[in-house]
This record gives sequence, structure tokens and C-alpha cells, in this order.
Amino acid sequence: MFDRLVSFIREQYRTQEFIPLHAPVFRGRERELVLDTIDSTFVSSVGAYVDRFERDMATFVGSPRAIAVMNGTAALHMALKLVGVEQGDLVVTQSLTFVATCNAIAYCGAEPLFIDVDRRTLGLSPKALDEWLSEHAIVDDAGDCRTRDGHRRIRACLPMHTFGHPVDLDALVAVCERWRLVLVEDAAESLGSYYKGRHTGTFGRIGTLSFNGNKIMTTGGGGMLLTDQVTGTRAKHLTTTAKIPHPYEFVHDEVGYNYRLPNLNAALGVAQLEQLPAFIESKRALAQRYIDFLKDSPLAPIVEPAHCRSNYWLNGVVCEDAAQRDALLKSTNDSGVMTRPIWALMNRLPHYTNALKGPLTNAEWLEARVVNLPSSVLQSEQ
Ligand SMILES: *Cc1c(COP(=O)(O)O)cnc(C)c1O
Repeated sequence: MFDRLVSFIREQYRTQEFIPLHAPVFRGRERELVLDTIDSTFVSSVGAYVDRFERDMATFVGSPRAIAVMNGTAALHMALKLVGVEQGDLVVTQSLTFVATCNAIAYCGAEPLFIDVDRRTLGLSPKALDEWLSEHAIVDDAGDCRTRDGHRRIRACLPMHTFGHPVDLDALVAVCERWRLVLVEDAAESLGSYYKGRHTGTFGRIGTLSFNGNKIMTTGGGGMLLTDQVTGTRAKHLTTTAKIPHPYEFVHDEVGYNYRLPNLNAALGVAQLEQLPAFIESKRALAQRYIDFLKDSPLAPIVEPAHCRSNYWLNGVVCEDAAQRDALLKSTNDSGVMTRPIWALMNRLPHYTNALKGPLTNAEWLEARVVNLPSSVLQSEQ
């Protein structure tokens, strides 16, 4: 039934072999820089590539500071701790996300508060958030946002830029200011995506990135916090065992974390970042080919929202209904072309079923219909 789509995807990747959803591409200085760390013996927690990777990334995204950590989940955990999320707090997020977003909330002893997404952006809906808060929350005399029932503190708002498409940031920033929520952006999927010309992950107090193997660029495993100078200095301290600098003594002034990114991984990151602009161009070109190809098909491609420039990390389509989605998944995977449904909603997972939530109409609608198509960077001569 989806034979033409399968042939189209095979033409893009010029292969009759299995086509994965997203594979990393190493065609820059990866080998050279990783070997350099081995030759120097500085493969671990000390080394020049970590500083270099942080500086290069801060420049690329336009953030005052960037702090490298060992994965995106660790970056989220630290971000929430740094903005003061504590035991018993609530953190607003979307139920349509990868599980890491919610796990980071749970690591702080806090609980997610699930708010619906927009159908256009696939990300947290500022309108749905404002409506839920208007009905169920107040800002108390101390300036904290609290639920009317139970007076639970709602400390932060953690939207996620799904598949690289930015949420409606102007509206969301305004809602967060009105309700005194600290904005933290899960930008794991949106490195290279811009909202009104500004890089995602730089709108909130902190933004986080992931460099897992399936992301737009990889360090094997890795993540980053994007933030201001003061928070950045705190983040560095907290993620490197909270050690007070001293020539030989071990003094730590709080419970710290060993979340730092090894130099070996940072070297890979420096080499990958050099190619990031080319990766983004390739992905945007592939997205346009999908959009053109799907013009007269029942599948609606997911396109960048207004005023945004998306990295198109993963291409997606919205099927007419769940039956069509299942047929698409079966026919492509049976043909050796990997496709995947979007995540099951987080409120369905056993550990999050009791979480507070608003209506999730759009999230449920998308959950039943969205499929991701192969989206790896194309070979350079294509
Ligand atoms: C990949 C990803 C993360 C972080 O993942 P790590 O594997 O820990 O680097 C977090 N949130 C979202 C939405 C992601 O897609």
C-alpha cells in the first residue's frame, strides 16, 4: 500500500539494504580528534576538548555559557535542581514527549503536571497551560504558583521542542511570567532550530541538549546545559562533584554529581559540531523532498511552525487515523525501511498514571496518528 513511499525513501538513501530511522554520520575530523585524546592520555574527566566543545557550542547557539555533561537526561536533572525544583513540587510538562523529560522531574522528588500540546507545534500549548492555571492555581503572597487544592508549589515549566519544531515561545514565556513559573527548555531534539531567529534552548533560565547517538549530532553519549554566566558556574560546580578548587586537597561543599562529559566524548563533539551547519542543510533539504513527495497523499507532513526555522531532526507525518498509521508502520518496516510511531503518552506509564493533568485532547489525537520516517543526513554528493 505504501510501495511508492518505500521506493522514494530508498531513492533518497540510494540503497536496497535496511534503512534506519536515524544513523550518525562521521565525515569530518572525528577520527583525528578522538585519536588525539588517546595519544595525549587525556581521555577522561580532564582535558582541553571539554572547554573547547563548551565554547564552540555557546557560540553556535548564542548562549552566554554551555556546560557539558554525560547525557541529556543528566542535563535535565541538573537544570531542574539548579532552578530550585524540590521534593513535592510540581513541574509543568507535556505528556507527548520522550520519557527522559519526566524522569528528570522524578529524580528531583517532584511530579509532572501534564498539559496538552498544540497540533501545529507538537509542543506544550501556552493556551492550555494558561487555562489550566486560571482554573486550578493561584500565585501566593510569597510569589509562588500553587495549586488551589492542596497548595502544591508549581515551580517550573519544562516544554520540549518535538522533533526539532519549536513551541510557541513568545506566548509560553508570557504565561510563565504571569504565573511565576521558571522556564526550562528540553531542547534535546532541537539543536539548530530557531524561533524568530533565536536559538531554541536560550529562551528559558536553562535549556538542555542531548548528543545521544540518534540526535542531530552525537558525542556517543552526552548533553549540555545552556544558561547565563552565574547559573553556568553553579552548574559546572554541581556536575563536577562540587569540589572547591585547590592544588591538592579534597574539599566538597555540597552533595555534588559526577555528571561531567569525558574529554574523549568532547573531542567527538568538537568534530561533529564543525559539520552541524551541513547536517542541518541536508535535513532541511530532505524534509522539503518529503513535503513535495507527499503533496497528493493522505499523509500530512509535519512542517516547521510559523516564524520558525526547524532542524527537521526527525521527519514525521500525520496519518488520517490509527488504522492507516498501523498499515504504514507495517508496510514500511516489513520492507526494511524503519519507521516508528510517536511515543505513548507519559500519563499512560504506570509510574506517571497518578500525575495531575489537564485535558490531553491534542496529545491523544497525535499519539494515534504520528509516524516518523527515516531522517538520517544524506550522503554528501546527493
Ligand atoms: C534524547 C532526549 C533526551 C535526552 O536523552 P539522553 O539519551 O539522556 O541524552 C531528553 N529529552 C528528549 C525529548 C529527548 O529526545
